[in-house]
Amino acid sequence: MPEILIVEDEEPLSLLLRYNLEAEGYKVNVSARGDEAELLLQESQPDLLLLDWMLPGLSGIELCRRLRARSETERMPIIMLTARGEESERIRGLATGADDYVVKPFSIPELMARVRAILRRAKPEVVSTMLKSGDIELDRETHRVRRTGREIHLGPTEFRLLEFLMSAPGRVYSREQLLDGVWGHDVYVDERTVDVHVGRLRKAINKGRMKDPIRTVRGAGYAFNDQFAIG
Ligand code: CA
Repeated sequence: MPEILIVEDEEPLSLLLRYNLEAEGYKVNVSARGDEAELLLQESQPDLLLLDWMLPGLSGIELCRRLRARSETERMPIIMLTARGEESERIRGLATGADDYVVKPFSIPELMARVRAILRRAKPEVVSTMLKSGDIELDRETHRVRRTGREIHLGPTEFRLLEFLMSAPGRVYSREQLLDGVWGHDVYVDERTVDVHVGRLRKAINKGRMKDPIRTVRGAGYAFNDQFAIG
């Protein structure tokens, strides 16, 4: 399980990031100070660092520079989180050695895609591109889905929805959480849209007498039922 350290002093943002990264199966640690993060990183090195630009104690940019100067962390994947309007600062961020940057406010699905892309490039051994549950296989890289070995064609939204649900089997998501995780939190769509796409996804993956892996939890939302293939 890849480990990610979030260094971010805006608590709502670090909570949102933590929630979404954990839902994708990452092990997450959080620090709200640059100087504290520096100490943590001397003790152990995560597989990826999400580093805010402006931090109390020690700035993200200075921390990035120091990490690049040390042999244990010189190749650590780093994504900088920067505020809008810091174009020249961003260029400095990359010059200081960050692998990538995202500008706040960013969409969570976009950040998740960047995290996966960077981990795949830097640490292919810790990232599995395949999600498997029961007789369903989903390949995050090729965007292919198979059930009992037969390929299933899904629209892009249905694919992301299935990927999101399969990455945390058993976990119940509200419609609002699914909108945030699949559509992005700055996109305004009606919660009933979720039901429409869940319906399409079910139609595509359940043929004949196949068991439905998606569980509707009344009054709560939807979950991927990891027990669907048993019994
Ligand atoms: Ca900050």
